[in-house]
Amino acid sequence: MQTSTTSATRADGPTFEKRSPVTGEPLGRFPITSPAEVDEAVARAREAFATWRETPLEERLRMLGRIKDVVEAHGEEYARRISEDTGKPLVDSLLTELMSIPLFLDHYRKTAAKVLGRKRVGTPILFPGKRSYIERFPVGVIAVIAPWNFPFQLSMIPVLSALIAGNTVVLKPSEVTPLTGEIIAEIFRRIGLPRGVVEVLQGDGTTGAALTAAAVDKIFFTGSVATGRKVMAAAAQRPIPVELELGGKDAMIVLADANLRRAARAAAWGGLVNCGQMCTSVERVLVESAVHDRFVALLDEEVAKMRVGGPDEHAEMGPLTFGKQLETIERHVKGAVEAGARILRGGERVDRPGQFYAPTIVTGVTPEMELYREETFGPVIPVIEVADADEAVRLANDHQYGLNGSVFTGDVERGLAIASRLECGQVMVNDLVASVGNPALPFGGVKNSGFGRYHGDEGLLSFTHERAIMVDRGRLDFEAFWFPYQGKYDAMAQVFHGLVGGNLPKALVGLAKLGRITSRG
Ligand code: NDP
Repeated sequence: MQTSTTSATRADGPTFEKRSPVTGEPLGRFPITSPAEVDEAVARAREAFATWRETPLEERLRMLGRIKDVVEAHGEEYARRISEDTGKPLVDSLLTELMSIPLFLDHYRKTAAKVLGRKRVGTPILFPGKRSYIERFPVGVIAVIAPWNFPFQLSMIPVLSALIAGNTVVLKPSEVTPLTGEIIAEIFRRIGLPRGVVEVLQGDGTTGAALTAAAVDKIFFTGSVATGRKVMAAAAQRPIPVELELGGKDAMIVLADANLRRAARAAAWGGLVNCGQMCTSVERVLVESAVHDRFVALLDEEVAKMRVGGPDEHAEMGPLTFGKQLETIERHVKGAVEAGARILRGGERVDRPGQFYAPTIVTGVTPEMELYREETFGPVIPVIEVADADEAVRLANDHQYGLNGSVFTGDVERGLAIASRLECGQVMVNDLVASVGNPALPFGGVKNSGFGRYHGDEGLLSFTHERAIMVDRGRLDFEAFWFPYQGKYDAMAQVFHGLVGGNLPKALVGLAKLGRITSRG
C-alpha cells in the first residue's frame, strides 16, 4: 500500500531558506510547492477521498490512533525539533504542541460515533406515519492552512478532526516553521495512511494562495486577519465554506477582590508564554483602580524572575519565531510611550544574536494607542487602570477582536456573571488560556477573531455537511397533499387554520379529508 508523504516536488524547483530564531544560523532549504504541484496533491486527495469516506469510522479512528504511539515514542525528539524550528522552550513544545494531540484523539475516540452518527428527530403531525433523521457526511478535500506560532498543534488538530469526520486533507504549514511541517509529514508516513489521505505541502504564501484556488471543498485557515480576508475572497470564487481562526487582543480583568498573587502570575504566564505569540495571549490587563498599583508591583516581581534564552538554556521564554514581528512590537511600544504610557520593565531587544525581545510591562496604556488597538503578538503586557468592573467589561468588549477573555475575582458567581457579558468565544474565571486544552470545549472567535468553531463536538461537525432524511413505509398509494387539487381548497383551509391557529383536532379533520379526496384520485 502506498502511503501519504510530503508531496513530491520537483528536485530543481524553487526553495526557501529556514534560519534559526535562536542563532540566525541557516537550518536548511525547503521546497516551494508550485501551483501545478498543489493541483496534483489535491487530485490525489480527491482520489483518496472516495475510499477514506467509505472507511468505517471505527477503522479511521483505529488508524489515526497510531499517532498516539508515534507521539509517545518520539515526543521528546519532536519537541526538540519543534523548539529548534520555533525557538520556544522545550517545556512549551511538550505542553502546548504535542500533549494535546493524544488528548484530542482519546476524546474523539470516545465521542465521534455519537457526534457523527445518524440522529432521529421529531416529525410534525402534518406528516403522519413518517420518521425523520439527520445524518452527517464528509465535506470532501479540506485545505488546512496553518500558522507558525503553534505549528504542530494548530496543524494537527484541524487535520485530525477533518480526517476523523471522513475527509481527506491537504495541509500547508507556514514557511516560517518548515521543520515542524516535516515532523507532521513524517508522523503520517509512520502510521501508514493510504496515499492521498493527507498531503503536506511545504511552501510560502504562493503555495497557500494556490491551495485556496485549487479544487478543494473547504478551507480551514489560522493566521492573520489580512491573509484571512484573502482566503475568504478566494473561497468566494467557487464558492466553498471557510473557517477563519484569526488573531486576538484578549482582555484579562482583575477585580479588587481577586487573589492578586495568582492574577499577577497568570498575567505573566498568559502574556509571555510562547513569547506572547499566541492568538489567546493576554494583550490587555484591565485592573480595578483600588488594586492597580499592588497588582502592577506583583506582576513586576513575577516578570523580573523570567529568564530569556534558547531551548537549550531551559529558559522561561525564547526568541520570537518570526523575526519581522520585532518591528511590530517596537512600533507598538514606542507609540505607546510617545502617547504617555510607561515602560515598567523590558521594552527593548535583548543584546544577543537571534530574535529576542525582553519580557515587557507597559502601564498607563489607553484605548487610543496602537498597543491597545492592534494585536502585538509579542512579549508585552499592557496594563490599563479601570474604575470598576463595568468599565472593564465595556473596554473588554469595545474592541475589533473577540477571542478569549478572563476574569479574576474572589467571587466565582460574580466572575461567571461577568464572563457572560464578554463578547468572545472563550472565557475563564480565575485562570486563562487553559480552556483551549479541554477537547470537550469548542474553540473560536467572534468579530475580527474569525468565525466557526473547532474542538469539541463542533470540531467534527464543522467538517461535515448535514443530510436530512425522511422515511415513509410506502404502504399507501398516495399522500394527502399530492395531486389532484380539485375539491381540496376547503379541506386545505381547515388544515391551515387548524395548524396556524393552534387547533390540532381541526387540522387533523382537514388532513383526513384531504387524504380521502386524494385517494379517490
Ligand atoms: P499569515 O496570516 O500571513 O500566515 C498564516 C498562513 O497563511 C501561513 O501558512 C502562510 O504561509 C499562509 N499564507 C500566506 N499568504 C497566503 C495567501 N495569500 N493565501 C493563503 N495562505 C497564505 O500570518 P503571518 O505569518 O503573516 O503572521 C502575521 C500576523 O498574523 C501575526 O502578527 C499575528 O497577528 C497573526 N497570527 C495569528 C495567528 C493565530 O493563531 N490566530 C497565528 C499566526 C499569526 P507562509 O507563512 O508560508 O507565508
